[in-house]
Amino acid sequence: MSSDLTVNDHIPIALRAEALEQILVERGLVDPAVMDGFIKAYEQDVGPLNGAKVVAKAWTDPDYKSRLLDDGTAAVGELGFKGPQGEHIVVVENTDDVHNVVVCTLCSCYPWPLLGLPPSWYKDPAYRSRVVKEPRTVLSEMGLDVPDGTEIKVWDSSSEVRFFVLPRRPSGTEGMSEEDLIPLVTRDAMVGVAEVTAS
Ligand code: FE
Repeated sequence: MSSDLTVNDHIPIALRAEALEQILVERGLVDPAVMDGFIKAYEQDVGPLNGAKVVAKAWTDPDYKSRLLDDGTAAVGELGFKGPQGEHIVVVENTDDVHNVVVCTLCSCYPWPLLGLPPSWYKDPAYRSRVVKEPRTVLSEMGLDVPDGTEIKVWDSSSEVRFFVLPRRPSGTEGMSEEDLIPLVTRDAMVGVAEVTAS
C-alpha cells in the first residue's frame, strides 16, 4: 500500500508530466518546439469533427459504410484522416441489437486522427476498470440507458488496434444531407458512451 507508485499518485499528473518533459528535453531526447507543434495540432486542428464526417458519410453512402466496416483504416484514409494512433482503426457498428463501447484498459489508446486527444474521463482508472466489468451501470451513470434486450460489447483499444463506434442514425433525420448530419455526431457517441440524437 505504501509503494512509490501510491505516493506518486498524490502528485498531480500535470506536474509529473512536466517533470518527465523536462528530463527528456534536458537529455536532448525531444525537441520542445516539435512537441509543442504536435500538441497544438491535436488540440486545435484535429478533433471529433473528423470522426463526425466519417459517420455522416457512412450514414448516407452504403458503399462507403461497407468499406468502413470492412477496413476502417483504409476507409477513413479516403477522407484524408491518418497519422499517429490511427494506423489500425477498426469500426464497430451500433444496431438495435448491439451497443458498442470503447475503452483502453491499459492506458488511453484512442483514434487520434478521428477524435483528437482523449477526454480526461477516458483516461480515468475508474472508467477503464469498471466499464469492462459493469458496462451497463457505467453507461447509465454517464447518462446512457441501454435497453435490457440490447447486448453491450466492450472493445479494448491498444497500441495495435484503435476502435471507433459507428453510432445509430437517429430517427427523424431521414431527409437530412450528409452535411447537415455532421454537427449531430458527438465525440461521446463515437466512443459509445452516448447516442446521437436528432437535435
Ligand atoms: Fe492505451
